[in-house]
Amino acid sequence: MTVLLGAIADDFTGATDLCGMLVRNGMRAVQLIGVPRPDLELEEVDAVTIALKSRTAPVKEAVEDSLLALDWLQSRGVHQLFFKYCSTFDSTPKGNIGPVGDALADRLGASIVIACPAFPENGRTVYMGHLFVGDRLLSETHMAHHPLTPMTDSDLVRVLGRQTPHKVGLVAYPTVRRGPAFIRDRLTELRHEGCRWAIVDCLENEDLLAIGEAVADQRLVSGGSGIAMGLPANFRRKGLLPPREDAAALPSVTGPEVVLAGSCSAVTLAQIEAFRSERPARKLDPLALARGAELPEVIAWAREHMASGPVLIYASAPPEEVRRIQQELGRERASAIVEEAMAVFARELVAAGARRLVVAGGETSGAVVKALGIEGLAIGREIDPGVPATVTIGRGPRLALALKSGNFGRRDFFLRALATMP
Ligand code: ADP
Repeated sequence: MTVLLGAIADDFTGATDLCGMLVRNGMRAVQLIGVPRPDLELEEVDAVTIALKSRTAPVKEAVEDSLLALDWLQSRGVHQLFFKYCSTFDSTPKGNIGPVGDALADRLGASIVIACPAFPENGRTVYMGHLFVGDRLLSETHMAHHPLTPMTDSDLVRVLGRQTPHKVGLVAYPTVRRGPAFIRDRLTELRHEGCRWAIVDCLENEDLLAIGEAVADQRLVSGGSGIAMGLPANFRRKGLLPPREDAAALPSVTGPEVVLAGSCSAVTLAQIEAFRSERPARKLDPLALARGAELPEVIAWAREHMASGPVLIYASAPPEEVRRIQQELGRERASAIVEEAMAVFARELVAAGARRLVVAGGETSGAVVKALGIEGLAIGREIDPGVPATVTIGRGPRLALALKSGNFGRRDFFLRALATMP
């Protein structure tokens, strides 16, 4: 099996995003969690995204992990490498976009690398090298106050310039507008001027497609998931990727169904209410969990009820209740206790036969994926925007999974997810 596109994403949800984009554009895509073991077997796929936690890791660690991921992808013969970061270019003057990109480019012998975080559908556009979120410059949005990666400069030529010893150039909008051949010529020109990097302007989906076509023969491409929109067509044009009407098809998974909710967002609380009116649901008491109580009893309850249909276990609570629990236990301890409990439920209930799981909450999903030792996910169709149905790959029993962060999904998400999952 040859992987056409190999991607390295600097965080987990970014990897899922990217896979969703590739699937929508006709590639079968899987997401691997962390650097995979050398002997991991994959069935037929067109694109593999390795999800790292390199966005805010120390530079050295981010570079090392990314190079290990690259080694793995190269061992599968990838044609092109994509380095995926956030559409708001989340980074600091130290990195990690510059240092990771440079390390990948050095290893691949790439002479010029585009950097384009644009995702017009989500309001991220780049004009004259400046990144906009909706109608604001990046530096005038909430991103200026981000706790880990405050983005106080919108000029990406300058921002990336601080992260790399190499020269950064610009492919400005008038050139992008004229199409792939002109973009390619400008990249060649920048290369001759000694640039390693090229920020590329982009205002519309059409531009993403033109930029995608222009970089068909680049070994390394970098950007947000938007820029991946134009890449599958390159492989089709080269005859490497057959038309796939079934890119989102996943093997079906049968077995008992469990929903685990640790998100306390208003959206999740409403989803819990909707589920409770249809199926058995059990609320956890973090104070009881802290005393070492509740776990065996809730596991027995879930085992009994999941035989006849989906069940929900949730810790989610409205803000005043969460505050009270955090006052009693401390914020970090409260989160850790609930996440650990969710990890135990996931492990125990899968051991008891559960095969179809919905998890609500970003951190909660991370805890569950880790507890189950999941190595990767094949990505299927979207249940709601930003939340695809997935099926696990690698070691362990095959599971159907939907992982949603707090604010995602419509009110009937839990039952609809179970109905949509393969
Ligand atoms: P979201 O995606 O909505 O941010 P997360 O799962 O990332 O959801 O974060 C929610 C956090 O709140 C988790 O660490 C979870 O363990 C914790 N938590 C869940 N229920 C409670 C509760 N009742 N009291 C205190 N913390 C809670």
